[in-house]
Amino acid sequence: MADMKCNVAVVLMHDHLDGDLAREEVIQLQQHLVQCPSCYARYESLERTDALVKALPIEKAPDYLSDKIMKSLPSPRRPAAWTSWVRRHPAVSAAAIFLVVMLSSFVSMWNQSQELSVSGPDLEHVIIEGKKVIVPAGQKVTGDLTVVNGDVQVLGDLDGNLTVIDGNLTPLASTAHIAGEIKTIDRAVDWFWYKVSSYFGTLAYGS
Ligand SMILES: [Zn+2]
Repeated sequence: MADMKCNVAVVLMHDHLDGDLAREEVIQLQQHLVQCPSCYARYESLERTDALVKALPIEKAPDYLSDKIMKSLPSPRRPAAWTSWVRRHPAVSAAAIFLVVMLSSFVSMWNQSQELSVSGPDLEHVIIEGKKVIVPAGQKVTGDLTVVNGDVQVLGDLDGNLTVIDGNLTPLASTAHIAGEIKTIDRAVDWFWYKVSSYFGTLAYGS
């Protein structure tokens, strides 16, 4: 029998993971995997993804979402590799997309729910206008200044550390002087990347 082509092997892999492959075909697939390191690696990673997605706490994406995702896919007359994979694994794909939608809505929720908060030992010399926090020119603010969810502009002296969390720091004016360190932290983005990288870390290294 002639050697199986890699593209045939890939189709069989998906069928095998879905559990609908005849015994004969399983044997053919195994024979190919033994000979073809790249297909073997691909099969291993597919298998891991499959196991991971099955282990997700989300049992099922809402029906309306699955429908929406399925309808938004290009027509099967122009099949791309990933869309045919999605069509072949609707539940898995919907769960994965649902997870991404959940993550991004969590991030936007987080951004919306945060009120401006300014802290430090010397707020007397700081001007707060709406979401703007200004250290005015010619003023000296003693100690650290921490601003959450605000736009910070430093025109004067800050005799300590400046920490801007989930906000913006306007480039320092020439009159500005900050004695300590400047730190800007985007918690939502950090959280998001932490989640994303740990998700892909699991894929890459197994459990
Ligand atoms: Zn191959």
